[in-house]
This record gives sequence, structure tokens and C-alpha cells, in this order.
Amino acid sequence: MVMDSGDLERLAEDMLTQRIITSDAYCAECGYNLRTLPGAGLCPECGSRYNTRPVIKSGIFYPHMIEFPIGDWSAGMLTMAAAVGFTYWGAKPLVPWSLIVAVVFLLLSVLYLRLAWRHTARFLHFRGIQRRADEDY
Ligand SMILES: [Zn+2]
Repeated sequence: MVMDSGDLERLAEDMLTQRIITSDAYCAECGYNLRTLPGAGLCPECGSRYNTRPVIKSGIFYPHMIEFPIGDWSAGMLTMAAAVGFTYWGAKPLVPWSLIVAVVFLLLSVLYLRLAWRHTARFLHFRGIQRRADEDY
């Protein structure tokens, strides 16, 4: 019998569903504590799929993973400052390449700030779950 990667995947899933979660791991959707539940499955509270397998790890978060995205905000602010600087420097007298560089920095800052916003929303979501989990104990 030859096993392909799909078979291995299913075998790993089967082994995981027989192993229980031994530490606090919370559902990433509703914050339900998945401790003592199988390593992969559906959240009993909200029905979201979760998987604690190290390579996959989806639908869960561990408390130590909660970090404010300070790097994303810093990158967004720095690239925004660079955009303003190149705009100021290139406006009078008109220096076209400086304005082009300013536009590039502006686009970068929009991307970074959007990322920072999304990561901050996720951070706040997880913090809320953490707070609720702490109240339960
Ligand atoms: Zn849930």
C-alpha cells in the first residue's frame, strides 16, 4: 500500500483528534477554552473549526501570542513621515523624482497602516477573549 500526502494528512488528523489539549488554548472566534478537548475539531460553543497541530494551527490562539502590532504602526508612521518629507522637499522648487518617491512612500504607508489597523483589531479581539477567560477563573 502506498500512502500519499493526503493519507498522511488524514492519519495526522486522526492521531490529533485522539490527543487532548492539555493547556489553555482558546477558540479564536468566541474565546471558549478548548482545554481537555481533542487536538482538532469544532468549537462546542460556536462551531468554528480549530486545529492545534503545530504546522497548521488554525482557529485558535494562545495567550502568549497576543502582542500589540507596534512594528506595523512604526513602519506606517515612518513611511508616512518620509512621504511628507519628500513631498515638502520636492514641491518648491519642483523636483519630479522627489514627488515620485513621495508617492511610493505614501502607498507603502497606506499598506502598513492598513495592516496595523487589521492587526490592532485582531489584538483587541484576542484581548477581549483573554479578559473573559481570566474572569472565568
Ligand atoms: Zn468558538
